[in-house]
Amino acid sequence: MNRRSFLRRTAVGLAAAWTVRSDSAPTTEAALNLSSQESRVPGASLKEKVANLVAWGATGIELHGNPRARLAEIRDALAGTPIRVSALCWGSHKGDLVSTDPERRRKGIEDLRDALSTAGELGARGVIFVPCFHKESDLPPQELDKILLDILPPLGEYAAKCNTRVLLEPLNQRETFYLNRVEQAAEICRQVNSPGIALMADFYHMSREETDQTAAIIAGGPWLHHVHIATGKSRILPGQEEHSFVEGMRGLRKVGYTGFCSLECGIRKGTDPMVEVPRAFEVLREQWKLSVL
Ligand code: MG
Repeated sequence: MNRRSFLRRTAVGLAAAWTVRSDSAPTTEAALNLSSQESRVPGASLKEKVANLVAWGATGIELHGNPRARLAEIRDALAGTPIRVSALCWGSHKGDLVSTDPERRRKGIEDLRDALSTAGELGARGVIFVPCFHKESDLPPQELDKILLDILPPLGEYAAKCNTRVLLEPLNQRETFYLNRVEQAAEICRQVNSPGIALMADFYHMSREETDQTAAIIAGGPWLHHVHIATGKSRILPGQEEHSFVEGMRGLRKVGYTGFCSLECGIRKGTDPMVEVPRAFEVLREQWKLSVL
């Protein structure tokens, strides 16, 4: 190939790549991968919970905090099953990572790093991190932004080394004054620009904060690696009260989402989780079909 034809080919290649990127068509086909937080699944042991998830067609389980002490139990329960650890729901560590007290911040970062290494060992897609709930920080959002831009790059580098991610989770205004919308978390991810810093979307919080569920998911799309599922009013299982996930799911299809959709919700009092959890998965499958673009 002479230089001229090489250049021509390259230019054509670039033009083709640009066409794909500027078109909103996703590069991967979206899939509904169902998961649940461990505490929502009925079962006397982790093994029983995993067996129930398998029977109900789920492929993920989300674990609480940093389950480092349970590694053997978890590996044993998952062995030979299609269930994977979707994420670790780690939280805010009482706002320590955005504290102005250097010792508190240092300890918070150290503990998040340890959770990231556990997540890596378990093959989880990420560790869910909330910078602060109400009353955990009195700094204004601009100051909190600065702190995140300071602490997240090295955390992202470490997360990437562990083959996992920090997942920023926006919450509704009843729970925090900071990061309420997917777009706000996306802006942090964009600025940090690390493969180890990503975000998640919680359909319950989104139903309270986002005016357009599809647009919110698209705004977070490039960094979206986990989704939480609950109804908007009572934060219970899908199907236990009127709630449509279709608009949000349409967003997931548009960005070619292939991560997990994980139940993080209560259950209506007096109802049986052995009946209601599989029914919730069925409701989600039906709504996923309705969200076809
Ligand atoms: Mg959540």
